[in-house]
Amino acid sequence: MTKAQGRSGSPSLSNPVLLEKIDKLFACNVGEYIDLPQLVVVGDQSSGKSSVLEGLTKLPFPRDSGLCTRFATQIIFRRAVDSDVRRIVASVIPAPDANDDRASKLRAWKGEDLQDLVAASFSRMMVEIHELMGLSNPKDTSTTVKPTFSKDVFRLEISGPNEDHLSVIDVPGIFKNTTSGLTSKADIQMVREMILGYMKNPRSIMLTVVPANVDIATQEIIEMARDLDPEGERTLGVLTKPDLIDKGAEQKTIQIVQSNGLSMKLGWILVRNLGQQELLDGADRDLEEEAFRHKHPWNSLDPSKFGIKALKIRLQEIVTENVRRAFPLVRAEVTKRLRASRKAIEALGPERVTAEQQASYLLDVISSFQEATMQALGSNYGANNIFDDNQDLRLATVVVNRDIAFAEDLERWGHEYSFDANDPVKPVYSSEDESDEEYEEWTSTRKKEGISELEDILHDPSGISQRLRTDTLEWIKNSYLNSRGFEIGTFNVSLLATIMKKQSQKWEPFALGYISDVIVMVHDFITKVLKLSCHDDRVCRNLLSFLMDNLVEKYKKASEQVEFLLHIERTGMLKTLNHYFNDNLEKCRQDRLRSAIAKKTINTESGAEAIYTKDIVYQHPMSNDEYTAQDIHDILKSYYKVARKRFVDNVCMQAADYYLVRGPATPMKLFSPSMVNKLTEEQLEEIAGEEFTVHRRRLQLKKEIQDLEAGRKILL
Ligand code: GDP
Ligand code: MG
Repeated sequence: MTKAQGRSGSPSLSNPVLLEKIDKLFACNVGEYIDLPQLVVVGDQSSGKSSVLEGLTKLPFPRDSGLCTRFATQIIFRRAVDSDVRRIVASVIPAPDANDDRASKLRAWKGEDLQDLVAASFSRMMVEIHELMGLSNPKDTSTTVKPTFSKDVFRLEISGPNEDHLSVIDVPGIFKNTTSGLTSKADIQMVREMILGYMKNPRSIMLTVVPANVDIATQEIIEMARDLDPEGERTLGVLTKPDLIDKGAEQKTIQIVQSNGLSMKLGWILVRNLGQQELLDGADRDLEEEAFRHKHPWNSLDPSKFGIKALKIRLQEIVTENVRRAFPLVRAEVTKRLRASRKAIEALGPERVTAEQQASYLLDVISSFQEATMQALGSNYGANNIFDDNQDLRLATVVVNRDIAFAEDLERWGHEYSFDANDPVKPVYSSEDESDEEYEEWTSTRKKEGISELEDILHDPSGISQRLRTDTLEWIKNSYLNSRGFEIGTFNVSLLATIMKKQSQKWEPFALGYISDVIVMVHDFITKVLKLSCHDDRVCRNLLSFLMDNLVEKYKKASEQVEFLLHIERTGMLKTLNHYFNDNLEKCRQDRLRSAIAKKTINTESGAEAIYTKDIVYQHPMSNDEYTAQDIHDILKSYYKVARKRFVDNVCMQAADYYLVRGPATPMKLFSPSMVNKLTEEQLEEIAGEEFTVHRRRLQLKKEIQDLEAGRKILL
């Protein structure tokens, strides 16, 4: 030790501004969130901690064994220059893990307005706090098991014109043996952890109290302190009970104190407190200590290493130094913590407590949903990042692709009987052939996975065989023969409707499969975009389930429209005004004529093709029935083609596009501001209200931010 350690006798700190800042930080709860410099008094039970504290603070700490320290006591001294009286404010800070009820009960407690703390009133207050914390009491005969120790903190704030800036924490002492009915093994552990918790704080200065009448070198507390502070920069040793040392053993103690023994970098200070009997006799501690100082061999000790005054001065030096070192760190930590808290509160989204806040939140969600929908339908995918990560959200594209697949399926596999040799007809294998299955190829009517919540309205996928029947003419002929009446040279028109119905029977599974897929695409789009527009999953789910019935209604309408179109095309009379029907029919007939007369052509000598005029007159090679069947075939073929194209367009435009994608009342349009405006307050609360835990977290973060902001102002 080099400085003139307290010889000047200055009782005040060299930099009170700094310490005042620290106390203010504590006052705005910053201590809850970050570690602040503080002084803790640690040691074994009965080592003299409370006596040292009493010496330092001049407060009559109760030292009755029944009331040994069972909770941490924080004492904050503040110089209040503008006041001429000493004020003492007592309060209890609940443990960080205390539940709400307990915390508010403890916070509500206020000590009587104390002008001074005499032993009797202090003792009374301690008893009150024991009860408040619900701690056990040796005199208590009730059978309920109460804890012996508490993690709550008893706090005394003492301010006055003559106080120093100092804050000290007194913690329960370490003990090794259990006392039946009072302390258990678990208590030993709990107290150890509590003490370690305070000692670990890199910004706390440890005052390790060791009685001088024991083997100092083997004291556990010294080892604990050394573990946590190997450099010894924040450990100050205090030796007590020098009056109880065996005669002759004094030199050893003096040696330790003088040489900063046991690697105590900040050194030792020896204090002489009062023993139990002296206390009863009403002795004055300072006078006793002063008298002791002059006794041999203690009079040889450096005065800066003896007595409570020296301890106080040394402490203040250390605290100031420590605070100075720690201050930039504290400031950085407050800033860091503040940033983290702000981020956390931002992640919770805007507050949603009042109906206005809830409606405004929903309106924001809806507006971003609508924007994404417009971009998706306008295939304006560059405008929003969501389209990069999720191809399913490119709604215009996925729907158009599905339209094309539907049109192709219907063109290739939609008819029952093949119309011409160009149809991709697969060879038919006998059923004994083992490879049969392999060659049978199928086209599924559904291309998308279903959605379980829409199971009721979606049509199950079915496989359509890629084999077409080739006995077309036979089928037509039989149908004609089985349904003809008295017509001559013609056939009953209702026959055409019947065979059209048979020919188009696969339209139904293909069209219903198609519309089911578009429903899935749209629903998928809605759920995903909603999720991306709304950061609170719960609100997203609530909104969806609130609108689910209406969505399903809309999906059903699209399905019903497909059924309506199927009915029109496949049931009832055939009709078309499309001239392609006549063109096709004419072409069919001409093809037939051409192929018939082709057989009669002869090659002339000049190499040209020629035909005899008698052969131009079409020679009917077949029966009337066959002729009629062929005629029906040509009409069916021509009509089918026109009807198929009409059907595909109608399904895509009238069912999918109108009802699901771009029409005036699509499912996406349900998510509109007017929907939000129609919600009652109850509905708003139900859909967008904040979950209790979120609400509590928000309040907590708000307070934290408030505290930290106040703290930062103090630090600047
Ligand atoms: P704590 O449990 O660590 O708080 O220890 P206390 O301060 O309650 O002291 C325990 C007992 O040791 C009390 O009876 C004190 O009077 C006594 N004691 C403390 N310091 C001294 C001292 O320097 N000399 C003597 N003779 N007794 C002391
Ligand atoms: Mg004590």
